[in-house]
Amino acid sequence: MRVFDPHIHMTSRTTDDYRRMAAAGVRAVVEPAFWLGQPRTNPGSFTDYFDSLLGWEPYRAGLFGVRHHAAIALNPKEANDPRCRPVLDLLPRYLGKDGVVAVGEIGYDSMTREEDDAFARQLALAVEHGLPALVHTPHRDKARGTRRTLDVVAESGIPPGRVLVDHLNELTVGPVRESGCWMGFSLYPETKMSPPRMVEILRRHGLERMLVNSAADWGNSDPLLTVETARAMVAAGFGEDDVDKVMWRNPVEFFGQSGRLDLSGTGQAEPAFQGNSILRGGS
Ligand SMILES: [Zn+2]
Repeated sequence: MRVFDPHIHMTSRTTDDYRRMAAAGVRAVVEPAFWLGQPRTNPGSFTDYFDSLLGWEPYRAGLFGVRHHAAIALNPKEANDPRCRPVLDLLPRYLGKDGVVAVGEIGYDSMTREEDDAFARQLALAVEHGLPALVHTPHRDKARGTRRTLDVVAESGIPPGRVLVDHLNELTVGPVRESGCWMGFSLYPETKMSPPRMVEILRRHGLERMLVNSAADWGNSDPLLTVETARAMVAAGFGEDDVDKVMWRNPVEFFGQSGRLDLSGTGQAEPAFQGNSILRGGS
């Protein structure tokens, strides 16, 4: 089994996690820039963080044979802090870099006017730089937040096929599927989504444009919940090819749109646009 975790915050995880992930089949990850818990007070604090997502973290992942890519953005929560907003002006410098495969996480936290503005500006940056966008949906008032997210995406002019709307559940998957955007699900030990619920969603809504992630960070989370979901899929009667589609080919296709996905060293280096040639490359 080969697994690509399309949303995980390895900055807050240990080398033991990398070791366990590699042993279980996780061969590639995307780490979106996010809120670090402690409020940041100046833009320099972000640039050091972005540099670490593009330098130190890929190096650390590489020691365990895991390919690491980043999504760069001003996150929704800190978009509300006037001390952090100048980060928006620093983003173009980062969006041109090799390891950056998306703009993210962007979107809504509390759905403020400031978040509206940062979200729209960063979708425009995604269009300008030819990058996909990774969009976080709020944990509170998720249905309304998701509807508003889809409106802003539609207004921005970015093709829906280049947008991943993340942290979905049974209530929010439908409208996102209709919009043509990709659908992300974060598997958490207690809240959000569990492997059995995820399997049921895949059964109901199919495998197209579906992405499963652990969103593991410094909170109660588990970087192996992607692998556990893959096992739950098999136990529920999905075939190995179905599992490979959701856990590997879908994220490769989505982030491959950046033209920057580098899967060398994973044994799975074929680019996504060769379509079926990667279907049977797994072990
Ligand atoms: Zn996240």
